[in-house]
Amino acid sequence: MNSNSNISPPGQRLPYGISCVGALLLVILILAVLGVGLGFASIGGNNQATKTADTQHIKTTETLEALIRVSPTALPFDEALVVPNATPSQSPEILITATYSHLTPPADDLPNQSTLRSEHKPDEVEQPAPFPLPTPDETYSLTQKVPILMYHYISQPPEDADKYRRDLSVSPNDFKAQMQFLIGNGYETIDLYDLSLAIAGKNELPPKPVIITLDDGYRDNYENAFPILQELDLKATFFIVTEFVDLADPKYMDWRMIEEMAAAGMRIEPHSKTHPDLTEHDRDFIIWEVLGSAETLEAHTKYRPRYFAYPGGWYNDEIQQIVADLDFWGAVTTAYGLSHGFDDRFEWTRIRIRDTTAIAELADMIE
Ligand SMILES: [Zn+2]
Repeated sequence: MNSNSNISPPGQRLPYGISCVGALLLVILILAVLGVGLGFASIGGNNQATKTADTQHIKTTETLEALIRVSPTALPFDEALVVPNATPSQSPEILITATYSHLTPPADDLPNQSTLRSEHKPDEVEQPAPFPLPTPDETYSLTQKVPILMYHYISQPPEDADKYRRDLSVSPNDFKAQMQFLIGNGYETIDLYDLSLAIAGKNELPPKPVIITLDDGYRDNYENAFPILQELDLKATFFIVTEFVDLADPKYMDWRMIEEMAAAGMRIEPHSKTHPDLTEHDRDFIIWEVLGSAETLEAHTKYRPRYFAYPGGWYNDEIQQIVADLDFWGAVTTAYGLSHGFDDRFEWTRIRIRDTTAIAELADMIE
C-alpha cells in the first residue's frame, strides 16, 4: 500500500483495494453514459440551432416579401430589395449586405462588393473596375483635360421637327465624319471609368483622349450610331432613361439592343427613370430616380453603373450629395467645359454637338 499512499493523501484513501478499482470503473461508466447523453444533447442542440436559423431566414425573406407586397409604392428602394440572382440558400445577412451595400459610402476597407456579384458577370465582357471610388493617394488629384462630347439623336430629323428636335439631332453622315475627324487627328476614345482612374492617379490616359456620350437612349443610337462606332472601333457611353425602355416606347431602344451594345463594350449608364427635373422633387423621389435607374440597368448589363447624367442638366447641391451617397463615381451636366477633377466629379462638363456643329467648330471646341 506504500505505492497507494504515494498517490493519495491519507485522508482520502479508500478502505478496500477492490472497491477502489470498482469505483473507478463505475466513475468511467457514469462518465461514458453522461458523454453519450451530452453527445445526443449536442446534436439535438445543433438541430435546434439550424432550425432557428432557417426560421429566421424564412421570416426575414417573408418580411421583405410582405413589405414589397403590401406597399410596393411606399418603398423607394423597391428595386434595391430585389437582389439579382439571390438564391434561397443565401443567409439573410448576405441578402441584406448585398441589398444595402450601395448605400454605404465608399471605403477601401469595406468587404469587396464585387465578390458578391462576380459570379454573375459574363467573362467575355470587359467589366468596370470592381473596387470602390478611385481616390487620389496624395492630397491633390490630377485635373484632366478630356472633351466629353454630348449627342442625343443620331438621325435626320423629320420634316415637321421643331427647333429643339433639330438642335438635338446629328445626321448619321455628320456623326461618322466627326468620328473620322477624331481618329484622323489622333484622338482615342476612353470612358468615364478611365477618367476617374486617371484623376486619382491610378492610370495613364492616351495623349489625346475623348469621351463620347449619347443621352436619352433613342432608338437611332442603336440603328445609326452603334454600327458606325463598331466599324471605327470606338467606345461610347449611352445614358438611358430606364422607364422609357421598360414601357417599350418605340422611340427608344429596347433591352435587347442595350444588352447587345453592353456586350460589345459600350458603356450603359443611368439618366434617371422618367427624365424629370430632379430639382423640383424631394429626396425620396430623387433616390428612386437615381438608384432605381442604376439598379434596372445593372439587371440588364450585369455591372453596377457608376455615372449619372442629370436629366435636362438640372441639378443642385442636394442632388449631387444624393448621387455621391449612392456610391456613384461621378455625374455629367450639360454645361460647357473641358477640364475635370476629383472635387468637381459630380458636375463634369460636356461639349454639346448640335445639328449645326461643323467639323472646324468641333476642332475648335475640343482643342
Ligand atoms: Zn436627357
